[in-house]
Amino acid sequence: MQGRDDRSPMTREEFWANVAVGGPEDCWPFLRCRVGLGYGSLRFEGRTWLAHRVAYLLTYGNVPPALRHTCDNYPCCNPNHLLPGDQKANMADCRLRGRSGGQSPGELHTEAKLTAREARSIRERYAAGDHRIGQMVREFHISRAQVRRIGVGQAWKVLDTVAVPNV
Ligand SMILES: [Zn+2]
Repeated sequence: MQGRDDRSPMTREEFWANVAVGGPEDCWPFLRCRVGLGYGSLRFEGRTWLAHRVAYLLTYGNVPPALRHTCDNYPCCNPNHLLPGDQKANMADCRLRGRSGGQSPGELHTEAKLTAREARSIRERYAAGDHRIGQMVREFHISRAQVRRIGVGQAWKVLDTVAVPNV
């Protein structure tokens, strides 16, 4: 192991440079430090992260508390092989919140439902002076509070700090 390098924080570009990126269906193993069952491990934005969680964050703009590999290949960083959560209850809960139109305390879940493209769309509409929140609530199935937070940049701050691809 290259101890010094493994503990140095990585940038977004360095992260992907250390992943064996392949085709959309392939497994993309992390090439550096491995921990536990084989998860990649690195320093990123001042914290120690598991590599697949960084891959998800950089792709989708957020990372859920629980994230599982559909390929059962722990070092894999292919975002197509990563799914939020592993509890049916969690997902049912998330769907319910989306339908209820908000007012729930679990805003983390509603944020996780958006894609980077959708969050960016809200941000751009706000910037352009379009504050028709009710319309965005219906369109994106998130709460009014969350639309406002994304619009003013309190949520999805990651859009400002890294180049999140539109997925
Ligand atoms: Zn995989």
